Amino acid sequence: MNTTFTEPAKKHLGQNFLHERGEIDKIVQAVDPQPGDAIVEIGPGQGALTFPLLRKHGALTAIEFDRDLHAPLQAAARAHGTLRLIEGDVLGVDFTALAAEMAPAGGQIRLVGNLPYNLSSPILFHALDHAAAVRDMHFMLQKEVVERMAAGPGSKVYGRLSVMLQAYCAVTPLFIVPPGAFRPAPKVDSAVVRLVPKPPAQVEVADHRTFANVVRAAFGQRRKTLRNALNGVADTARIEAAGLRADARAEQVEVAGFVRLANLLAGG
Ligand code: SAM
Repeated sequence: MNTTFTEPAKKHLGQNFLHERGEIDKIVQAVDPQPGDAIVEIGPGQGALTFPLLRKHGALTAIEFDRDLHAPLQAAARAHGTLRLIEGDVLGVDFTALAAEMAPAGGQIRLVGNLPYNLSSPILFHALDHAAAVRDMHFMLQKEVVERMAAGPGSKVYGRLSVMLQAYCAVTPLFIVPPGAFRPAPKVDSAVVRLVPKPPAQVEVADHRTFANVVRAAFGQRRKTLRNALNGVADTARIEAAGLRADARAEQVEVAGFVRLANLLAGG
């Protein structure tokens, strides 16, 4: 038991601390840090992942919001390696600037984190905004969220998150982690997922904003046909010109179909 940390877990900050050595080792193995990698951990908490990563890699940058954890984390980290702690909200951290600083000459950062579950979607979208600066991401999330991220058309859980992430990244669910691996134990299973942003040349989306608008509108009313859900965004002629059926529903349309429609709209 680490006596450096005396604070109880804060629910509003999504604090479920990992304690199962086997699960922690599996995450570190999945990340497989290599010399020269610029690793950034989101939400180090009490260091469950931070310290093993430091022992393997020597140095890393971590972003933690909870002020009460900053001093004990810095103190405990010294025995394991060099920790640079960014004290604040991960959503306010410019990953592109961080990559330019940590990995100059076009290098990218690698993101790792057992994410606060209440913020997982905003963090994923924030990372997506900086996808060109990120080499890969290994995140622990609620299993249900990982299922949504990786789902394909026809699945009940295929939605905005699936389409937005898969247009920009390869999404690979890795393994499930049971509630007992955390303190306090969450109510649901968790899962670790790997996201690898596509090289910019392989991203087919012409205009991010148009694409995001089309996907948001299409899934905003997922029970409606595309013709109705996209009212005001794309008319039937455009929908059909993109090779889609206007009477289909968003959950039946593959990622490439949304990309074609958005590119057509962005083209004027
Ligand atoms: N990595 C630790 C572990 O695995 O035991 C802690 C994981 S806990 C699920 C999530 C961590 O994210 C907590 O330490 C929490 O304080 C931190 N956190 C919550 N909101 C944050 C934010 N907006 N920015 C940075 N860290 C945040």
